[in-house]
Amino acid sequence: MPAIASLDEPTLLVRRIAATFADPFMVDNATVNFGVGVGIAVAPNDGDGADDLMRRADRALYRAKEAGRSSVRFFEPEMDSLIERRAVIESALRLAIPSDQIVPYFQPLVSLDTNQIIGFEALARWESESLGSVPPDVFIRIAEETGLINALGDQLFRRACCEVKNWPTGFVLAFNISPVQLRDPTLGLRLLCILGQSCLSPRQLEIEITETALVDNLAMAQTTIDQLRHAGVRIALDDFGTGYATLSQLLSFHLDKIKIDRSFVSSLEKSEEGRVIVRAILGLANGFGLTTTAEGIEDTAQLNYLKANGCAEGQGYLFSKAIPAEDIPTLLKLSPSGVAVARRAGPIN
Ligand code: C2E
Ligand code: CA
Ligand code: CA
Repeated sequence: MPAIASLDEPTLLVRRIAATFADPFMVDNATVNFGVGVGIAVAPNDGDGADDLMRRADRALYRAKEAGRSSVRFFEPEMDSLIERRAVIESALRLAIPSDQIVPYFQPLVSLDTNQIIGFEALARWESESLGSVPPDVFIRIAEETGLINALGDQLFRRACCEVKNWPTGFVLAFNISPVQLRDPTLGLRLLCILGQSCLSPRQLEIEITETALVDNLAMAQTTIDQLRHAGVRIALDDFGTGYATLSQLLSFHLDKIKIDRSFVSSLEKSEEGRVIVRAILGLANGFGLTTTAEGIEDTAQLNYLKANGCAEGQGYLFSKAIPAEDIPTLLKLSPSGVAVARRAGPIN
C-alpha cells in the first residue's frame, strides 16, 4: 500500500481480505474453510527497501501463524532477535542430533498406594556446547517445525529402551510422542521395531500423547494407536484437560491412562474450583476404568488430596526431578521401600 496515512489503513485492508475468506469455499462438492494469517511491515520504520520489508512482513506472518487461525501481526523489532535466536538453535540442533548430544533423563513415576517407584518417564535434555542448556519445550518445537523430530524421537527412544535393562524387572518406561510424529504413518512400526531390538517388553512401555495431537490427526492417530495397543503397549493421554477433545473422541481411542496436567495439581491449594475439577477428572477416569497419574506434585498436601480421591500414580518434584540414567541406581538404593517424602504440609480440605 503506497503512502498510508495511519496504521488503520492496512488494518482495514486486512479486515476486507479476511471477510472475503470468511465464507466457506466449495471444492469438489466439499465445504472448505480457510483461515487467513497476515504479517505487516511498514516503511520506513521496518525498512525502506522491498527486501527488508518482505523479510520483516514474513517474520510478522510467522508469529501470526503461531498465534493460530486468522491472526494479524505487525512487525516488532524483537521479532528479529527471536528469529535469529531460533536460527542459531536450529543449526546447533542439526549438529546435536547426529552427535548424540540430546539424551533422555528420567523422572520417577510413583505408585501413590505404596509410595514405590514403578517406572520412569523419559524427558529429553540438551546441554549444548555453544548455547548451554536448551529447554525441551524450545528444541522439541524447532525439531517439529523442521521435521527433525522423527530422527530425534527414534534416537531418544532407542537410548531410553537401552537403559531399561539396568532397572528392576517390570519397571515402566513412559515415552512422549509429539503431534508431528503422530502424523507419520510409519511411526507405530518404527517404535515396535526399536522395541523389538531392546530387552523391553511392550507391556512395560507407555506412550504419552496429548489431547491436541489426537484430535488433530484422528485417523492416523487411531491407526498408530491400534498398532501399538495390539502389540501390548499402553497409551496415556498427556496434559489431560488442556486440549479441546470431546469425551467421546477420547473414549474412541481406548486409552489406558490419563495424566492430569500440572496446572490442575497446582490449583488444588488455590481454589475450591481446582479441587472440584481434579475430583471430577479422577471420578470420570475411574468410572471408565482408566488409570490416573497426577503430574507436577510438589508438596504433601497435594499428594494427600490426590491419594484421598483415588489417584493411582504421581510424578513431581516432591519425589524427584528428571535425573540422568546413571543416577537411577543411587535413587533406587536410597529409597528401596518407597520414595522419601517429607511430611511437612497439612492436608488440603
Ligand atoms: P511433559 O511431557 O508434560 O513433561 C512434564 C514436564 O513437567 C517436564 O518438563 C518435567 O520436568 C516437568 N515437571 C515434572 N515434575 C514437575 C514439578 O513437580 N513441578 C514443575 N514445575 N515441573 C515438573 P520438561 O522436561 O521441561 O519437558 C517439557 C515438555 O517437553 C514435556 O512436557 C514434553 O511435552 C516435551 N518433551 C520432553 N521430552 C520429550 C521427548 O523426548 N519427546 C517429545 N516428543 N517431547 C518431549
Ligand atoms: Ca509427558
Ligand atoms: Ca504432561
